[in-house]
Amino acid sequence: LDGGDLLTRLFLESVAEGTARVGAADYRYLARVLRLGPGAEVTVFDGQGREAPARIQTIDAAREEVVLVVASPRRAVMGLPITLIVALLKADKMDLVVQKATELGVHRIVPVAAARSVVHLDEGRAAGRVARWRKIAREAARQCGRADAPVVELPRPVRDAVVDVPTGAWKAIFHEGVKGASLRKALPPERPAAAVVAVGPEGGFDAAEVEAAQAAGFVAVGLGPRILRAETAALAAVVAIGFALGDLA
Ligand code: SAH
Repeated sequence: LDGGDLLTRLFLESVAEGTARVGAADYRYLARVLRLGPGAEVTVFDGQGREAPARIQTIDAAREEVVLVVASPRRAVMGLPITLIVALLKADKMDLVVQKATELGVHRIVPVAAARSVVHLDEGRAAGRVARWRKIAREAARQCGRADAPVVELPRPVRDAVVDVPTGAWKAIFHEGVKGASLRKALPPERPAAAVVAVGPEGGFDAAEVEAAQAAGFVAVGLGPRILRAETAALAAVVAIGFALGDLA
């Protein structure tokens, strides 16, 4: 057991060598949707960068249960770790950003409550939304053949998020207000250890937020002469950085 059909990916809470038993949702996905039977090979992953080839041992239709034999796990190779700091957007926009950013290889998503965010979440609703985003991220990771789902954090203020970044990261805040701030010119000459991109809400970042980011070492950069919608800007920023510094090149 060494290959595993890379296209069939199954999320497990924890990936360890031995047998794993999965319930109704996975049973329906494996047996009904994909029509896999005993002996079929899949890849299991835990969203933390561990994955392993696995084989279906038994399928119990009555119990809606599948037993898998999991081989020894390996650590998935990861490219440039990109953190996306993104202002809270309306529900459907945020779902889109989380899904597409996952496909594009983002490592960590930090929703921020920006001054001009239209959306405000109290703690209770934030927890529910984060759970939803994590599920979207896991499903997108499985879909695109990624071993690790991005970390999706709880919403926090912009000034906290901009100081909580990996050491050695190259950091950019995208702001439509900065004139002549070419992204190309702002790029570091060498590939950094990590990259952080910050994108604002529908109404843009306010001056204090841009200043807080700059004080934390972010460069303020533009994304061209057009004003993009926040969700477009978030994905454009990730693509641009992924191409310039990451594994899209
Ligand atoms: N304040 C603007 C729109 C903000 S666009 C207005 O209401 O007219 C939402 C976010 O997308 C911004 O905070 C910024 O991060 C990003 N963005 C959109 N277009 C951009 C551009 N041309 N350059 C840099 N950032 C941009």
